Amino acid sequence: METQSLTIQIKKVEKSKINEVDFNNLAFGKNYADHMMYCDYKDGKWHTPQIVPYGPMEFHPSTKVFHYGQAVFEGMKAFKDDHGTVHLFRPEQNFERINKSSKRLAIPEFPKDLFFESLEALIKLDYNWVKPGQGNSLYIRPFVIATEEGVAAAPSDSYRFMIITCPSQAYYNKPVKVLFAEKFSRSANGGVGYAKAAGNYGAQFYPTNLAKSKGYDQVIWTDANTHDYLEEAGTMNIFFRIGDKLLTAPTSDRILDGVTRKSVIQLAKDKGIEVEIAPVEVKRIKDAAKVGELKEIFGTGTAATIAKVTAFEHAGEEFPLPEVDKEYSVLMKDSLQDIQYNRVEDKNNWLHPVKP
Ligand SMILES: *Cc1c(COP(=O)(O)O)cnc(C)c1O
Repeated sequence: METQSLTIQIKKVEKSKINEVDFNNLAFGKNYADHMMYCDYKDGKWHTPQIVPYGPMEFHPSTKVFHYGQAVFEGMKAFKDDHGTVHLFRPEQNFERINKSSKRLAIPEFPKDLFFESLEALIKLDYNWVKPGQGNSLYIRPFVIATEEGVAAAPSDSYRFMIITCPSQAYYNKPVKVLFAEKFSRSANGGVGYAKAAGNYGAQFYPTNLAKSKGYDQVIWTDANTHDYLEEAGTMNIFFRIGDKLLTAPTSDRILDGVTRKSVIQLAKDKGIEVEIAPVEVKRIKDAAKVGELKEIFGTGTAATIAKVTAFEHAGEEFPLPEVDKEYSVLMKDSLQDIQYNRVEDKNNWLHPVKP
């Protein structure tokens, strides 16, 4: 295939903000790297990507994204290895998924060459914002918004694709207590649960706040029909360990197909750990907890990597998780991070190096 070099217009910052950031005390999503990328869709095509200093943008109040939530996003990470090279982790997965999400929201798909060329150009410009060392990474947030002006409820005829990045440290440093949903739902058959559609997240804030007021950090969503089956957390897929076996729900049009989830399944299988991918009944988890068979619950997602759950609540009953030796959550996190920081052979070809 012939590849053509695309012209990306680049306007660099006059002075980097990097010295204003305390990299040892990062609040997730509060500091952004010097540059951002945007690319406009107008007159039926994507135009030249622009890389400019990170900063505010102006939009008309009638801009469609504010009214109808026609917006999708992605979350991915870049890691710096001990030799100083930056690696993206499975970025083609995020590229494919943002287009899958876009398609569901009637947003035009973004071209692969534009995505990779502008993403790499952005990483190269902000290379110093990717800090080496365990837990450090550059979180990358691609997103698309509907930019047409006018409050008619119809798909926009113009869009803006953007990438912003922020330095991040380990995301959840404290263990997580979760509530199994009994009333509210995150997604339904035929809906948009499998898409990283902006509205999926806004809709979870209220029930999650209710859970927080009861002392729980997150909600584990159950199927909307019966609330009998555990599906996933708001931004993480979820795994259960019963005995020596891992269990996780199959992906569907209600469940997001997480990159961390599929990586954990692969790594577990590589290590000879049995993984059962099947609907996970609440009753099965509670019964296993009662007889001491439930060893672990953990969430998987790009931001958190692996988040260990220490207790769950369902129908007014709280179940603490036991202390176990050789936790799968630790094993999976270590294996994943060894690959992400390029400390072991990348057998599955998951790393995408970006040279400075
Ligand atoms: C992003 C997300 C995940 C995790 O996906 P990763 O690709 O592993 O980051 C899981 N569930 C939901 C609902 C999400 O939005």
